[in-house]
Amino acid sequence: MNVPEPSNEHLSVLRKYFGHNQFRPMQWKIIHSILENKRDNCVIMATGYGKSLCYQYPAVFCDGLSIVISPLISLMQDQVFSLNMSNISACFLGSAQLSKTKSMDDIISGKCRILYVTPEWCTSESGNEILNQIKGVRKVTLIAIDEAHCVSQWGHDFRNSYRHLSILRKIFNTIPILALTATATSQVRIDICKSLQLNNPLITCTSFDRPNLYFSVSLKSGKTEDLFKDFQKILVRKELSYKFSGATIIYCQTKKKTEDVANILKENGIMCAAYHAGLSLKRRKEIHEQFVKDELLVIVATVAFGMGIDKSDVRCVIHYGVPKEIESYYQEVGRAGRDGLPATCYIFYSYADFATNNYFIENISNKKFQEHRKRMLKYLQKYLETRNCRRQLLLSYFDDSNTFIEKVPTPNCCDNCTKFIKLGKQKFDQPELNLTEDVKLLLKAIDVFQGRFGMSVPIKFLRGCQDCKIPKEKLSHELFGFGKDTSEVAWKALGRLCLRDGLLEESSCSSSHMGKKFPMSTVHLTSAGKQYIKIGKKCGVELTPT
Ligand code: ADP
Repeated sequence: MNVPEPSNEHLSVLRKYFGHNQFRPMQWKIIHSILENKRDNCVIMATGYGKSLCYQYPAVFCDGLSIVISPLISLMQDQVFSLNMSNISACFLGSAQLSKTKSMDDIISGKCRILYVTPEWCTSESGNEILNQIKGVRKVTLIAIDEAHCVSQWGHDFRNSYRHLSILRKIFNTIPILALTATATSQVRIDICKSLQLNNPLITCTSFDRPNLYFSVSLKSGKTEDLFKDFQKILVRKELSYKFSGATIIYCQTKKKTEDVANILKENGIMCAAYHAGLSLKRRKEIHEQFVKDELLVIVATVAFGMGIDKSDVRCVIHYGVPKEIESYYQEVGRAGRDGLPATCYIFYSYADFATNNYFIENISNKKFQEHRKRMLKYLQKYLETRNCRRQLLLSYFDDSNTFIEKVPTPNCCDNCTKFIKLGKQKFDQPELNLTEDVKLLLKAIDVFQGRFGMSVPIKFLRGCQDCKIPKEKLSHELFGFGKDTSEVAWKALGRLCLRDGLLEESSCSSSHMGKKFPMSTVHLTSAGKQYIKIGKKCGVELTPT
């Protein structure tokens, strides 16, 4: 598509209302297609590129109205506030809003340029009625659907009301629809276009890369009480106390963990707050505001803290505990360094953390969806265990054409690249290890227990350790103590490779202790695993250490 340069008239509107001298190349291409060709668009743009301008500018330029569907009221409030500060009239309508009269007056009179609404309101009967009324009196320039990945079950933030937004196509059948998101695989992209009934949409996909982010992964050194050991390398020593180098978000898997971590940090003199869905809305808002105003530098949160954080200078995102899966992980680290300056993303995890993830996945009733979540989790595991470039692995998840072939270690990229550069190596080694016999041994030991335990008991058995869970008669089994020369850590690492490559499978269950339920997992051989014992590598599953 040939896109002419923006005219002086466009540039002067851009300068006057938005304070920018130029459009970014993709922004102008999208805006031009909306204004000139009334074309639908599906936009996948890395965080920080400037998605909002794509839907705010067209209505300002043509004195029209952009209707923006956005998932969070707090986000809408912030955007409405900053638009009004720039002399662009904006308002929002939602079910929970008390006074709608002023907003409606501004909309009907033609004053309002940008109207924000929630997807729930849009798909409600009263919302439909009002949208039809607006259509009768206003020149609607554009319908924008922000965070459009919520449309898709294959995304990481599926929201049911997004699924019904095709109603907008029916009400505004000749008005261009612009769907926007920061993260979408090709499968999600297809789903967005289909579900919103976009008509021959212009697809724009900027690189997913965030060059200013540095990625690092480590195993946790011990229990939560020891977390200071892990964080020490991130903290800066200032006189007698420690500080994080800038605004920091620490993600934990559970509410309880956020409290525990926040308490330990506080005991060590670090000002922070725990943030999770168990707190009152008022308290959550308070913490969010303090964070945005730099009155609070560290937030220890569950994933409830996320979408809609309007803070561009987050310097560090830490996952203390394994993230949920690969897509939400990339969305969460996307909150770091939105100002374009360097920021770091750490993960500290232990293998036990996977039990929580598996427990949630086992409780998904839709089988197809459950399989998909398992695949996303497996990819995350690959990311955690890789010895190659982590950035490359992340990017290749979203972009199928992104392969490993050309990748060489580069500075300021990830811990693996740094390691290789320090060793003076020009490329990543792919270690050739033959693990066949060890794998067979581990699989046989697991099979001895017929899926009654997780990985620990069979490994203790293999290493010849006594454990009350190992039945007496098994102590005289030929495999008891057969693998004593290999460490427990090495056996566990091998077990994870077997899980990843489909030789073993985990099932989740819960165990009770002192009246409380805890998620745990048991492990058993798949049919590929059983075959592997018989014929080693020839069964079609090649165990490849990453
Ligand atoms: P996204 O929603 O894609 O994460 P935003 O719309 O929040 O990004 O914009 C990110 C930052 O980029 C904001 O600070 C915004 O002011 C700035 N920005 C957007 N467009 C331009 C532009 N054309 N020129 C300069 N800065 C821009």
